[in-house]
Order: sequence, then C-alpha cells, then structure tokens
Amino acid sequence: MTRETVSHRDGHVYEFGPEMDPVYEAADGESLTVETIDSLNGEIQRDDDLLDAIPEEVNAATGPIAVAGASPGDVLAVEIEAVRVAEDRGRVLTAPGFGLLQDDPEIDHPATRITEVDTDESEAGAVEFEGIDVPIEPVIGTIGVATGGGTVSTLTPDDHGGNLDTTDVTGGTTVYFPVFQEGAMLALGDAKAAMADGEMCGTGAEIAVEVDATLSVVEDPAVPLDRPLLDTGDAVKTLASAETLEGAVELANADMLDLLAHHHGFSRTEAYLFSSLVGGLEISQVVDPQVTARNAVPSEYLSVPF
Ligand code: CA
Repeated sequence: MTRETVSHRDGHVYEFGPEMDPVYEAADGESLTVETIDSLNGEIQRDDDLLDAIPEEVNAATGPIAVAGASPGDVLAVEIEAVRVAEDRGRVLTAPGFGLLQDDPEIDHPATRITEVDTDESEAGAVEFEGIDVPIEPVIGTIGVATGGGTVSTLTPDDHGGNLDTTDVTGGTTVYFPVFQEGAMLALGDAKAAMADGEMCGTGAEIAVEVDATLSVVEDPAVPLDRPLLDTGDAVKTLASAETLEGAVELANADMLDLLAHHHGFSRTEAYLFSSLVGGLEISQVVDPQVTARNAVPSEYLSVPF
C-alpha cells in the first residue's frame, strides 16, 4: 500500500465534537504520514511578534482521519513511529493571562523567543534558545478523537484527548484512545520541537512537524478504556485531565488500578497499594483550561492489555 500523506492543507479542526467529517478514511492497520502546522498558524516568526491574547483559532489539528471499523466501545491504537520537525524555527512564548506565573510582575507578558533549528544533519539536531542548544525532542501537543457528547476546543484536553501537551506523545510511543464515534476521527497538531513537563510558560518550541503513524482498531478491549493511555516502551501511563491537578491525578491513578488489577489478578485494594510502590504520578501540563497528569508504571510490572 502506498503511504498516504494527510496535510493540514487537506483539512484541520479547532474543536473535537461528536460529529466530525473526515478528510481521509484510513484502513485498519494503515500507516500514514500526517503534516501539521504550528499551533499559532505561522503567525509568530520573530521575537517582536508578540501575542496580546490567545487567538480564537489555535492548535489546528490535521484531520479528522476516520479509521475503518472503529466503533464506540473499541480502542484506537495510534503507534507513533516518528515525529520530524518540518521548519527552520520554533517559537516559545507567553501571553497576558496565560501560563503558570501569569501574575508575576517581573515576567513580561507577552514575550516571544524564536528558537532556530540547527539543521546540521550530522547531529541529532537542536533548537537554540539565547545561544543555548536544546536537543530536539518532538512532542505532539494536541491529539484526540471525536467526543462522546459535547464540543471541546483544541485548547482543552479531556477524555477524548485533545490538548494533552504530554512529552511522551512522540516517536516510539503508542497512544490508545477510547472510540466514542464511528470511525474514531483522529486529529492531531500543536507540535513542539522541545517541551518541559508542565509546559509552564504555556508553550514549548511550537513548530510544524511530519508524523509517521500506524492506526489500528482494538475490538472488545480486555479492559474498557475511558481516557487516553500510552505505552512508551519503558512504561505504561494513564492520562487524565481535570480542572485541578488533584482531580487529574485521582483519575489517572483510578484508571491505573483497572490495568494493574487485570494484569496481576489483584483486587482493587491490592492494585491501589501496589500503585504506591512503583512508577508514579507525572505532570503533563498545568496551563490549559484543564490540566493533565499521568500515572506511570514501568513496563516490567505492566503491559497494555490489547
Ligand atoms: Ca498545546
């Protein structure tokens, strides 16, 4: 099968809802390439391009891509083979009313720094911040599927995925989503060349990328999936978003107990006690309309049940 490319020019969305019209229909098990534009639609190109407010349309997510055979109750597996930066610069910035320390009077809001990409192909690549090289470690910020009910902006993460801003969502990771609607309707964008856990100022080094991924449907999953789940190869991680960090970590831990109980034959109590011994809670981001956290368990103690 020829490898198809789906570009943001073919179609993109600024919200996930229950009814989404696909721009491409993939076969179950198809490998394709997805091209994305940066989260600010290329509007920030210089340090003096400042963002006075978050625009209405951010995080353009390429798609939706329907996957044949995906039906409500199934799981969509998105195996991310590679994420490649596709332009010569990223941009890290903050804006008024945005970011973790938005009320700190000594921090400029807005502020922008362009991060030039070192395109020397003899090295793994770096982005430059004020003369300091930072390794390119791409992250797909927004990735999700059609929702079970309401319409959610690509700025907000929730049970369908969306603006998860999770550093593990990169090459080598498989992300699993609950399927709420026929075809699942995957869309993704908002990538970064580099991003810290937490995404404190509100962005990573926002950049256009190309993503190679394989999309597969899991029918009758052994453990029902309510929220995104990921497998980095080194660890299995539940992902949850809520209004507060406490809410997000409670959901992520509760979801992890289902997986540990299934894998080890634990009671829910035993799963809870064991979860307090290995891996742990991680912060994805604390700056979006809902915050996102994960509960990680190393792969030696848990594998994904599908
Ligand atoms: Ca984001």
